[in-house]
Amino acid sequence: MGQVEKTKVVVLSGAGISAESGLGTFRDSGGLWEKYDLRTVATPEGWARNPELVLEFYNARRQQAAAAEPNLAHRALARLQEHFEVVIVTQNVDDLHERAGSTQVIHLHGKLREAKSSVEPIEVRDIGDRDILIGDLCKHGSQLRPNIVWFGEMIENFDLAKKHVREAGHFLVVGTSLQVFPAAGLATLSPNTADKVLVALDIDLEPRGFSIREGKATQEVPAIIDTWLAGKRLSGPRYSV
Ligand code: NAD
Repeated sequence: MGQVEKTKVVVLSGAGISAESGLGTFRDSGGLWEKYDLRTVATPEGWARNPELVLEFYNARRQQAAAAEPNLAHRALARLQEHFEVVIVTQNVDDLHERAGSTQVIHLHGKLREAKSSVEPIEVRDIGDRDILIGDLCKHGSQLRPNIVWFGEMIENFDLAKKHVREAGHFLVVGTSLQVFPAAGLATLSPNTADKVLVALDIDLEPRGFSIREGKATQEVPAIIDTWLAGKRLSGPRYSV
């Protein structure tokens, strides 16, 4: 007898899932993002103008992420792997999904723990929690930069992410304002039959076909996971017409 295929659960996560681990979102007040102007720290133009400031910003974020712990939402998603095939597509640059135990994590916007050459972008290296400093060079002699996708740069792994979303049986979108494209476009790609749910603290956009859960990720995500683990859906089945 052939093995029964596990239902695929795809999760699209954003900064909000890491907020309760102490990592600020774009919108939080008093956070790092308020102290620095996005155009100076998250664009190629900002890097060309002031690389010291850009490195200082990401060094601070890397230290902050290293000190943070995965929260109940990250951990609940890892638990789901026991019974489902789980693919996490994240806009986050922290590694909290991996540290919670999730094994299939696709990063769209890069990783804080990696550096790359500023001229040979394929030369990527793991730097752990270490700072990147002016004078740290790639093997071709060019300055290293964070392996982060800045505004105006090409998103990573997008075709792979689209493929997984199109195959989703269950689709959870969590902690994202769905305002940063093209990543936000993934929310529209899951099959009509998928059980879809959107979790965020404040929801302005309600994509079609989603159950809406306005609340904290650490409360909403474990409850959703329990529903799916019990073999139930959050919404009735939807069929294409
Ligand atoms: P965003 O800042 O635009 O939106 C955050 C969303 O999270 C909002 O919808 C908000 O309602 C929700 N939220 C806040 N706290 C929450 C909580 N406790 N529980 C549930 N939801 C909560 O974030 P975005 O859509 O991910 O886009 C921002 C970009 O910023 C991404 O490209 C990402 O790379 C980057 N970013 C990453 C991190 C990180 O890696 N931890 C942190 C900040 C920003």
